[in-house]
Amino acid sequence: MEQAINTMGQTFEELLAGSVAAHGHLCPGQIVGVRMAMLGLRLLDFETPPTYPQLKQLIVFVEMDRCTGDAVAFVTNAKLGRRSLKFVDYGIMAATFINLKTDAAFRVISTEESRELAALYAPGEPDRRQQQSMAYKVMPDSVMFRVQEVKVDLTPFDLPGPTRHKATCVKCGQVVRDGREVIWEGQPYCRPCAQGGYFRRAIEVSWDNMNWSPQPQVQEMEPRTRAKDLRELSIRLS
Ligand SMILES: [Zn+2]
Ligand SMILES: [Zn+2]
Repeated sequence: MEQAINTMGQTFEELLAGSVAAHGHLCPGQIVGVRMAMLGLRLLDFETPPTYPQLKQLIVFVEMDRCTGDAVAFVTNAKLGRRSLKFVDYGIMAATFINLKTDAAFRVISTEESRELAALYAPGEPDRRQQQSMAYKVMPDSVMFRVQEVKVDLTPFDLPGPTRHKATCVKCGQVVRDGREVIWEGQPYCRPCAQGGYFRRAIEVSWDNMNWSPQPQVQEMEPRTRAKDLRELSIRLS
């Protein structure tokens, strides 16, 4: 069900409180992230937080898996599971906010100067973390961030909505969704098989109490031996 339209938007303090609750603690990164998202949304002329229909027109790329990323996701309501949140592992304190309807896109980058200048904006605070938190609440956007207008080439495979394409890896049998397969000599492969993955030495295992389910069927069924099925399948495939 679609949420009621909130034409009021939320204040910085309200957004920060919500972000802190979702993230688990108050940290300088929460403040930077809330402000980064507020600026990105403002550049797109979106509400904070965005509501329908804007929420469906928004794609956000975050370039770091740190505190700031959580705050950006919270304020924008962008979600991995809805394909509106994209993670690119650059280790850069930046996020890009895209309006799918207009193709407008702004990359908002947290400046190093903002860290260096924290003492100037919160003088007399001995604790460094506390000082950053105080400073990031009063620092102007122009000191906190650089903004780039960018073009982001998205394909239909990147967009929300039903799975558009499935391929089956010819090496391991895994189904690969949304065009993420790698074609090699005319055959589809999953990325781990084609390029190597973040894991190695994958061995199928059985585990304790492997017939557990949250809601066991009332009717007594013949127990399934899934690990055995999988082993036989992998023998067939190899
Ligand atoms: Zn944090
Ligand atoms: Zn594979």
